[in-house]
Amino acid sequence: MKAQHIRDIRATTVTVPLEAPLRHANGCHWGRFVRTIVEVETDDGIIGLGELGGGGESAEAVFRATKGYLVGHEVSRLEEMRFKIANPTASLYNNRTQVLAALEFACLDILGQAWGVPVSEILGGRLRDRVQFASYCFFRYANADGAGEVRTVEQMVAHAGELKRRFGFTTHKVKGGVFAPDYELAVYRALAGAFPEDQLRFDPNAVWSTEQAIRFGQAIEGLRNDYLEDPVFGLHGMRRTREKVRMPLATNTVVVNFEQLAANVLNTAVDVILLDTTFWGGIRACVKAAAVCDTFQLGVAVHSSGELGIQLATMLHLGAVLPNLAFAADAHYHHLTDDVIEGGLMKYEGGSIAVPTGPGLGVKLDRDRLGAYQDLYRRLGNYPYDQDPGRPGWSPTVPNERWADPTEARTVSIPF
Ligand code: MG
Repeated sequence: MKAQHIRDIRATTVTVPLEAPLRHANGCHWGRFVRTIVEVETDDGIIGLGELGGGGESAEAVFRATKGYLVGHEVSRLEEMRFKIANPTASLYNNRTQVLAALEFACLDILGQAWGVPVSEILGGRLRDRVQFASYCFFRYANADGAGEVRTVEQMVAHAGELKRRFGFTTHKVKGGVFAPDYELAVYRALAGAFPEDQLRFDPNAVWSTEQAIRFGQAIEGLRNDYLEDPVFGLHGMRRTREKVRMPLATNTVVVNFEQLAANVLNTAVDVILLDTTFWGGIRACVKAAAVCDTFQLGVAVHSSGELGIQLATMLHLGAVLPNLAFAADAHYHHLTDDVIEGGLMKYEGGSIAVPTGPGLGVKLDRDRLGAYQDLYRRLGNYPYDQDPGRPGWSPTVPNERWADPTEARTVSIPF
């Protein structure tokens, strides 16, 4: 089989609209996602795709700089690329884990195309053809049409019901940490009452104090909880919470590398590790981490950091090959209005998405869509993820000191 060598690396920033602005504990997604689309091209003209969060001139410049390391690099030498781009002993000066991830996605995509197999076959072969997802319900501001607000208990129950109807979800994740814990407790209990057959999970993005986390956790014992996700920041706060709350705790914040995973094995603070193909530095790192979790009988799930179709494909291939995946995966995907891949948004059926079967990642760029959303990015630029357009002057602290007011139906003007 002919070796593939990297000839060029290109990065394009896009912004793709969401159905409505998504509120979270640290700020807001201001009605759209900003993502960097990465293309790695080989001497034979095979193009592999990668993706990561954020973008702009500085992000694109980082990828141009990686050409100095990788032009001429043989694509199959993924471990060597890991040391070239994210050498752990150089990480104090050179923290490029997410850059490595985007490049790894693209190289696996190239290898799959060159070998005529899906990425899941390279990763060990699929155990399932579809991956189940959770509904991922956010509090939301109304969109520019005045629709889509999720703020009250009734609106959240209706929103979860709509997502269940449209996509078939049977697991509901609530992104909290926006309003005071007692208000969000009422919202969560209402969901449990409205969907008694479904599984639930709650994630306040680590903005509670440990005492708030314990109080909330104890209050939801007895509901159909998959787990309580990042109720408090730090392994020690999680450990204290875990001593007093009788349900699994999950994290995507305090175990995101192998050092932290080892620390959590030696002195357990978290039961379920949410694997993010970007945060961990690639799909293969997640497969390795899942094997460690399997050995020590920790749970694993698939985390979402706000993906378009390329990263979603990495999550699907990961989900397809993990023997110990016992939970529905997370995705922000169904909040998007469009995608940059051919065919537009991938389809949910029965709460699941089919793992792509084409060679490589199994998704292709739609050049027209890519151009349109690149133009939209050039018009709108970035937005501050850690600021809330409806709460000028508020900044997130840990633990949070000022909750949003659930009686305020704010209309925020977000340019489109
Ligand atoms: Mg989380």
